[in-house]
Amino acid sequence: MLRGLTVHQDERLHPDCLRYLAGYSEKVLDQVRELVAQGRLGEVLSRRYPAAHVIRTDRALYDFTLGLKNQYLRSSSPLGKVLYDTRITAERQALGLHSYQGLVQGARIRTRNEIRIASLFKSAPLEFLRMIVVHELAHLKEREHNKAFYQLCEHMEPDYYQLEFDVRLYLTLLEQGETLYGPAGPETTPASG
Ligand SMILES: [Zn+2]
Repeated sequence: MLRGLTVHQDERLHPDCLRYLAGYSEKVLDQVRELVAQGRLGEVLSRRYPAAHVIRTDRALYDFTLGLKNQYLRSSSPLGKVLYDTRITAERQALGLHSYQGLVQGARIRTRNEIRIASLFKSAPLEFLRMIVVHELAHLKEREHNKAFYQLCEHMEPDYYQLEFDVRLYLTLLEQGETLYGPAGPETTPASG
């Protein structure tokens, strides 16, 4: 695919994958609307996810991502930079960004993968961060959101679909001008797993 190119870059904003709650049934949407109307969405989420994670720096995010990659995708092309990015916002329908660069080095092409995570995940449950990192890591192997892609996501995170839904609930909460843990989140020890 990259043959003949000295530099190839493709940034994928994948706008379709995490649009708040589009695609869920009316029944589900009604339940969410009711929680929002009652002002109980935050309460429901904080009961399920009582603490924010402590992966606050790009360095910590890199280590976290590399740990997951080494566990599940060791043979995939190496990670480049991994960082939180304030320019990625849910309003622009993106939560993460995976870009790759094919560099011709002599006879072979080396791919450098960069992962950017929306900085709203800095103050979020560990499960939510894990879900979005798993999503971006799965793009190392599958560029499209096809069946193989979601199977890979589920392999890395068995609760992938539930977490994706809960992330959408979380975005809905943020849209209401509420937060779960305040802007920085409490200092807690990260949950295991
Ligand atoms: Zn995607």
